[in-house]
Amino acid sequence: MRIAIVGCGVAGQAAAIAFARKGHQVSVFERFTAAKPVGAGLLLQPSGLAALAHLGLAEAALSRGARVSRLLGKNTNGRSVMDIVYDPKSDGVFGLGIHRASLFEILHGAMQAEPVALRLGFEVAAIEDTEQPVLVDTEGRREGPFDLVVVSSGSHCALRDTVSSEGSDRLYPWGALWAICPDIEDRFSGALRQVYHRASIMIGVLPVGMAPESTHKGGHVALFWSLKHKDYERAKADGLERLCTSMNGFWSEAAELLDHIDFDALSLATYRDVRPRRWHSGRVVLIGDAAHGTSPQLGQGANLALIDAVTLATLTSEAKGDAGGMAQALARYRKVRRSHVAYYQWASRWMTPLFQSDSRMAAGLRDIILPLSNHIPPAASWTRRTLTGYAKMGVRRWRADF
Ligand SMILES: Cc1cc2nc3c(=O)[nH]c(=O)nc-3n(C[C@H](O)[C@H](O)[C@H](O)COP(=O)(O)OP(=O)(O)OC[C@H]3O[C@@H](n4cnc5c(N)ncnc54)[C@H](O)[C@@H]3O)c2cc1C
Repeated sequence: MRIAIVGCGVAGQAAAIAFARKGHQVSVFERFTAAKPVGAGLLLQPSGLAALAHLGLAEAALSRGARVSRLLGKNTNGRSVMDIVYDPKSDGVFGLGIHRASLFEILHGAMQAEPVALRLGFEVAAIEDTEQPVLVDTEGRREGPFDLVVVSSGSHCALRDTVSSEGSDRLYPWGALWAICPDIEDRFSGALRQVYHRASIMIGVLPVGMAPESTHKGGHVALFWSLKHKDYERAKADGLERLCTSMNGFWSEAAELLDHIDFDALSLATYRDVRPRRWHSGRVVLIGDAAHGTSPQLGQGANLALIDAVTLATLTSEAKGDAGGMAQALARYRKVRRSHVAYYQWASRWMTPLFQSDSRMAAGLRDIILPLSNHIPPAASWTRRTLTGYAKMGVRRWRADF
């Protein structure tokens, strides 16, 4: 098949590798003139690592990232709110904190080892005729028709309207400032740590292992500070010293990390809750954040994107190439991914205000309910299942379909 992939991010690159290895003719279209990662660090869960292993890339990720065996969150009264161990019985189950640039390099290297055509500086503005799809970019250039167009252009891109103009799409008022900092004294290894003050302040430190362009050869962390995006310009004008003072009032060790960076190293991340009614139309299909963007509260978006990519390549490659065969394969793709994705969207949606909002009641509820769920055995096991990326709607565990 001739396959076009829109977006050279996590989902797009994973899909390009998976489709190319199945013998398809793959072209990737990216709006940036140089393919690059956006953002700081992320946590890959066991489910996402399974998808990377399927692509033969888990070892490379493990060698660059940092193992995270525990999630620790406390409020500024010193009360433990979250203490989740991936696997209380052994250290065989863990998350992997990884610099986005490291994940990008791994995926990009693997993609370039395949016969994939990468077209940079091609910002897709429209997809004409979903039955015989043709891409049109912002300068009016056209490419196609293709046997399949995979839209993996992230949560902020409006191309999903080609597939489904119905559904909901909401920008969260809160985002986060993120930076990669060297962990000079190796204070933060092994756990994702967070500190909360009500739900209006959240500081997090995630170990991410090596940072490709850093002079520090030891471990690094991704530091994040919750912020409403409407307050970003003011925070920027106030500068790093003010941020450092604010952070210091809640968590001095985290504030010390700012000593090693300047304000420009902080990037503002924003996120949306994206729920289009349909994921496919004709020969066009949505994957990753384009299909189901969420807030990063549960650290699952990139995992879901990787799983989407390998599942789609497996299911459509088994399909007959005619329109009926493709429609069936895409319907099957939606069916097998639906309950997994729906669970994480639902859970992220209700958890986000507990950590990012002005509601004191939400913070109070969080501080009562979450500690209970850490210690009551059935709830603790459900929490672990959720964390590892193996939960789905219903009582069964998610199982890979690739
Ligand atoms: C602050 C923050 C923290 C996060 N932490 C985690 C975490 O710990 N764990 C986790 O699993 N997930 C996390 N996520 C979510 C994760 O980043 C996303 O789910 C993941 O990047 C989605 O990948 P994607 O390929 O679908 O989209 P993206 O990574 O957004 O890639 C989209 C690509 O498409 C390109 N593009 C966009 N529009 C066009 C166009 N019109 N034409 C051509 N190209 C286009 C973009 O330039 C980009 O390269 C986090 C997200 C944020 C914001």
